[in-house]
Amino acid sequence: MLTRRGIRVTGVVQGVGFRPFVHGLAHSLGLTGLVGNDDAGVFIEVQGTPAEIDKFIFRLRGEAPPLARVEAIDVFNLECIKAEDFVIVDSRFTDGSVTTVPPDSSVCEQCWRDVQDPANRRYRYPFTTCTHCGPRYTLITGLPYDRPQTTMAGFTMCDDCTAEYTDVTDRRFHAQPIACGACGPSLQFVSDSSELYADAALGATLDALEAGEIVAIKGVGGYHLACDADNPGAVRRLRERKGRGNKPFAVMLPTSAAADAVVHVDEELRELLDSRESPIVLAPARDSALVASVAPGQHRVGIMVAYSPLHRLLFEPHPDRANLGQPRALVMTSGNVADEPICTTSIEAQERLAHIADAFLHHDRGIHVACDDSVIAETGQPIRRSRGYTPMPLTMPFSAPPLLALGGELKTTVCLAQGERAWMSQHIGDTANVETLTLLERTASTLGELLRISPDVVVTDMHPGYLSRRWGITRAHEIGAQVMEVQHHHAHLASLLAEHEWPADEPVIGFTFDGTGFGADGDIWGGEILVGGYLNVSRMGHLAPVLLPGGDAAVKRPARTALAHLLQAGVNLSDDLPPLADMNATERSVVTSMLATGTHCTPTTSMGRLFDAVSSLLDVRHSSDYEGQAAIELEAMAELADSEAVGPGFALADHEGVLIADPAPLLVHIVDSARTGASPPELARMFHNAIADMVVAAAERISAETGIRMVGLTGGVFANRILEAQCQGRLEASGFAVLVHRLVPPNDGGLAFGQAAVAAAKLGG
Ligand code: ZN
Ligand code: ZN
Ligand code: FE
Repeated sequence: MLTRRGIRVTGVVQGVGFRPFVHGLAHSLGLTGLVGNDDAGVFIEVQGTPAEIDKFIFRLRGEAPPLARVEAIDVFNLECIKAEDFVIVDSRFTDGSVTTVPPDSSVCEQCWRDVQDPANRRYRYPFTTCTHCGPRYTLITGLPYDRPQTTMAGFTMCDDCTAEYTDVTDRRFHAQPIACGACGPSLQFVSDSSELYADAALGATLDALEAGEIVAIKGVGGYHLACDADNPGAVRRLRERKGRGNKPFAVMLPTSAAADAVVHVDEELRELLDSRESPIVLAPARDSALVASVAPGQHRVGIMVAYSPLHRLLFEPHPDRANLGQPRALVMTSGNVADEPICTTSIEAQERLAHIADAFLHHDRGIHVACDDSVIAETGQPIRRSRGYTPMPLTMPFSAPPLLALGGELKTTVCLAQGERAWMSQHIGDTANVETLTLLERTASTLGELLRISPDVVVTDMHPGYLSRRWGITRAHEIGAQVMEVQHHHAHLASLLAEHEWPADEPVIGFTFDGTGFGADGDIWGGEILVGGYLNVSRMGHLAPVLLPGGDAAVKRPARTALAHLLQAGVNLSDDLPPLADMNATERSVVTSMLATGTHCTPTTSMGRLFDAVSSLLDVRHSSDYEGQAAIELEAMAELADSEAVGPGFALADHEGVLIADPAPLLVHIVDSARTGASPPELARMFHNAIADMVVAAAERISAETGIRMVGLTGGVFANRILEAQCQGRLEASGFAVLVHRLVPPNDGGLAFGQAAVAAAKLGG
């Protein structure tokens, strides 16, 4: 007896070889029918015996192609028809329902084999891709995902490529970015003295890198600035020209096996490095000479594996360069100027990177959406969720009205949500900068158009000075949307809860530690103990406030913050204290009088600033080149400790029902111990442990009152691995359950997702 069933598959099922897979599967089971793409995903009709159809549905999920992500399979009955074969039919695009766009994927093994094979027509072709790999999000200009709606539209396929593209049994069947040397994009090398094309451009790039030059290389989501990582002079020049201070650079290696010479690669790290997302992974360093140059003051280095054929060819012997070598490791840092967005076109790169790069390696495959590399800690905690992950949807714990959330100011991403899904954008950056704010505007509209979401609600931070908030209010007005503000740390906590699909009605104790966030009372918060959930939180505790001399200016000058904390703790200020020793007489008297009178001072409860203060107190860092540097270097120092030192910790006092965590006893102890010659690494370690003990003590006190046993750890400070591990370990040992970030960043890069969750809880549910 024959039956016919309609099947709807949703998820990431377009542009990933799903239709040929369905075609092959139906054939192997002797089923007839059809498959095609539409707005919502893939539609299938199959006809055959019920048993074979059941097998088909089972294998549909289990054997889906590598880049596919099947979210749902809905089956319904149809009338049998006279059918003779199983066919792929034209795409149907009708209504405006939401579909998903695949993220970019690193080159697959088969394509890399093609590139290495001298007999293959794609030998050494840097833009080789197939349905299992290659760029997607960065080159899609609209949906349905078809070649005319990609930046490949201008390249007409040659006969050989057409044959592959139309052969349902071929790995490149309907691979939209398909190309070869005869018909596809090509390379161009430009320096002051030469201009070369195709493989010769690659040879010239290797020559330049070997000579210690800096080359701006166009990749998948934008330009990188590259130099030989084993040439300290070149790395120093790049650092100087980029005005980057001691901020670490990421390093690219050809394979995870090669990476093992630079960092300790264990099984988990290998998996992350070789994943389709191919992020930068922060890993414990093995090669100290390389690390001293690319990541000064740290024991960890950001490593990634060459993820496109072009990148991989940079590490291969070049046919024109007999007897000459190729780099072992390359510094690959975003091709941008300071806080500006990454460059994506040759014109932009030639203009804006002219003072940094000695030469350029361009290509003519357009980048529609700029996408920086993603960064993941070895624990799996995301630090920057961008290329490879965006725009893979996240699941919302409840249904959202169509909305757009704009994040904060630093490390900005935006987030669109509708129904039970949320799409976080790629990394946008610091939107205090006008160019970056423009990128935010563009990203919000391109992502919205791609997903066909017209927001009814625009969600922003409460900070009156954030440009993203101002733009959001104007934008909401233009499109007739409602504006909703979400307090910064509430959004952090909601992002953590939402990534765990935490239910709306179960409160947690949230330790929300970061550098800066606008508080509900107008002060700068950042050491917050919030109790509640998506709908509302109450501030049940926080760090004891200190005055920040000069407000934001103190962020760049940990020594000043140290002075503020020392005064507050009642420490006698003597010249031997490292922060004071680092100041000249003028600065000291200016800062001291500011603190005494409170002029130009902002009160803050920031945990990030407390890390700054201790970093300066232990003579680790008195001035910062980049956000979080003092804390990162303090953590690196704590890693060197060989014991878990204990000492007096925070004083935890109840002030009218609010717990105040005062670091004074801890700071006094650190000063005394340092004076009597205690080792700085032990003291740095003790500081971390003292915070973890305070967290447990505060959780116990709040739990006794509320009965809550679930704790969340969120905010940028929890990018600190020692702190996260110590807090989690000690809380669990005390019987608490603990939520930590593994899907979205704990820092402000995850804020928009949390804002979306709060808005959805309040308006949808
Ligand atoms: Zn491939
Ligand atoms: Zn071709
Ligand atoms: Fe924050």
